[in-house]
Amino acid sequence: MAKKKNKTETEVKDPGEVHAFQAEVSKLLHLMVHSVYTEREIFLRELISNASDACDKLRYLAITEDGLLGEDSELVIRIRPDAQARTLTISDNGVGMDHSELVENLGTIAKSGTLAFLEAAGDDSASAQQIGQFGVGFYAAFMVASRIEVTSRKAGQDDIWLWTSDGIGGFETSRIESDGGDGALNRGTSIKLFLKKDADEFLEPAELARIVSTYSDHVIFPVMLEGATGKGGEDGKDGAEGAEEEESEARQLNSGQAIWSRPKAEIKEEEYSEFFRQNSGQFGEPDVTLHYRAEGRHEYSVLLFVPGMKPFDLYDPARKGGIKLYVRRVFITDDAEILPPYLRFMKGVIDSEDMPLNISREMLQNNQIVQAIRKAVSNRVISELKKIAEKDQEQYLGIWDRFGPVLKEGLYEAPERRDDLFELARFRTSKSDDWTTLKDYVANMRENQTDIYFLTGDDLERMRSSPQLEGFRDRGVEVLLLCDPVDNFWVQSAAGFDGKPFTSITQGEADISNIASEGGDDNKKPETNAEIAGLTDKLKKLLEEAVSDVQISKRLVESPACLVAPSGGPDLGLEKILNMRGEGAGLLPVLEINGSHEIIKALASEGAEGAAEKFEDLGWLLFEQARIIGGDSPRDPVKFAERMNRIVLGSTGG
Ligand code: ADP
Repeated sequence: MAKKKNKTETEVKDPGEVHAFQAEVSKLLHLMVHSVYTEREIFLRELISNASDACDKLRYLAITEDGLLGEDSELVIRIRPDAQARTLTISDNGVGMDHSELVENLGTIAKSGTLAFLEAAGDDSASAQQIGQFGVGFYAAFMVASRIEVTSRKAGQDDIWLWTSDGIGGFETSRIESDGGDGALNRGTSIKLFLKKDADEFLEPAELARIVSTYSDHVIFPVMLEGATGKGGEDGKDGAEGAEEEESEARQLNSGQAIWSRPKAEIKEEEYSEFFRQNSGQFGEPDVTLHYRAEGRHEYSVLLFVPGMKPFDLYDPARKGGIKLYVRRVFITDDAEILPPYLRFMKGVIDSEDMPLNISREMLQNNQIVQAIRKAVSNRVISELKKIAEKDQEQYLGIWDRFGPVLKEGLYEAPERRDDLFELARFRTSKSDDWTTLKDYVANMRENQTDIYFLTGDDLERMRSSPQLEGFRDRGVEVLLLCDPVDNFWVQSAAGFDGKPFTSITQGEADISNIASEGGDDNKKPETNAEIAGLTDKLKKLLEEAVSDVQISKRLVESPACLVAPSGGPDLGLEKILNMRGEGAGLLPVLEINGSHEIIKALASEGAEGAAEKFEDLGWLLFEQARIIGGDSPRDPVKFAERMNRIVLGSTGG
């Protein structure tokens, strides 16, 4: 049944619909409204930024859709304070929203970073403080407004929609005839804030001018202050009804110049920071600012930042980049892979002078200019990082700590960059608490050491006490401790560094017997008496379902046993990750035992006496212990406990 158009005397065309906010929006609003966040003026930055995006989007669409701009071709953002009504209206003639977009955009949160933050955030004012710096977008307006009316008309459409909310629980939408008096809405969005009692300052023209020039000066569309009635209202001349407003002329509050096209020498650090925050939706300060203009075969401007903090969505599976592409100051997309994914932590803008404006987003992937820019800018970013690494260790290690795991993705995704990235990479090792380079690792290799040894895991501290390290420590052989998930992948595909292969210490028989023990005790040969040799066979039979082999270890010194991967299969860390994804090869590990250890010796004689049950308990306990030390839970926790109890009772009671 067709919906009956129910025209009423008020301007509502369709009866209103009531919507609830997505739970996350309610949480965000609650946090914000109850925050003691002092910089609530940032709401204006957020609304202007949205308006500017809307103008950007329209301008992009208009490139291919003739007539979309119509007569209203000058894109502007208007700010109109009304001291009498105590409202502040921010409007734009950008792309606008239809009904479903209004409901979707202003009722939910789409940004994965914000969602992740909200999930982690508590209900306290500390979280509220943080969310304030976070770029909360439209919803920030509820810090200063008790009610908001959004009127929007999508470009090319006739319907005008009204969205209203008091920021508690939900919002209402309805279709209206006109936008309610501030002049007909041809296109775009108008956001009227009914200011809270304590928010009078946002009616002051001077204050509005200050806020706009502080946060939004670089917005490339004019931001106009309109309808400011000067001091009229406050001088008491507003008594008479319908008093003529002495409207001052609209004036532009921002300089409207794209910051990246201005000369570097003129730009203050705060301007860069503010642009960084607004343009990239980041918080904090940029750690590195890279601003230059490339000339030659292709001309383009680059303004990029290395963020000073780790964004919440760095590991979002979409791995979206943070670069906005402009063509001659016209925004094209923030969705194209302008930089490779392993540089996705870089934020900012690239503005090409010579790309065609009407390039579709789909065509960008294969566009030659884009490819040339990608290569040249990647080169520049990498060489800039190298420079910092040389000049300022501390700053560089901060960057590596934040973004190293992302850069390391390039080690397997971009083999042509491997040498560069190896130069940038820093590693934790078994020898010290500091970061090490591969170059230093190689320089410190022991005599007869041919491989670069590594251990993968997810907990650096636990890795440091791993039994697999014992033999290496004993011989003074440094081991890279790789504790980022990405390490499991590059280390498999990287062919080595400086001619030395990467070798896992948990895989196969890492043979370090040619390297002298540092203690000088070179003859620490594992004991291979007949009893112990027999033990490996007996254990192998006992543990058949859980291990592929039992061997006498060359790497254990203090611990009785450890698990390693069979040679040929993936190393233990990788196997664990593959198993989590259901892609594991299903290879059983090898149990290595320390022939010099008292427990092993005892077990060997236990086996000899043939006390089958005790041998079985001890054998399994040895295996489960090796699993636990390796960071896993026992294969069979119930039996593990039973065996343990039997042994304890046997030894105390017996
Ligand atoms: P963000 O801008 O960070 O995506 P917001 O909550 O500020 O988050 O806005 C949500 C969405 O609402 C925007 O992505 C945009 O699609 C839409 N929106 C907000 N303001 C406007 C506007 N003035 N014109 C058109 N669309 C808008």
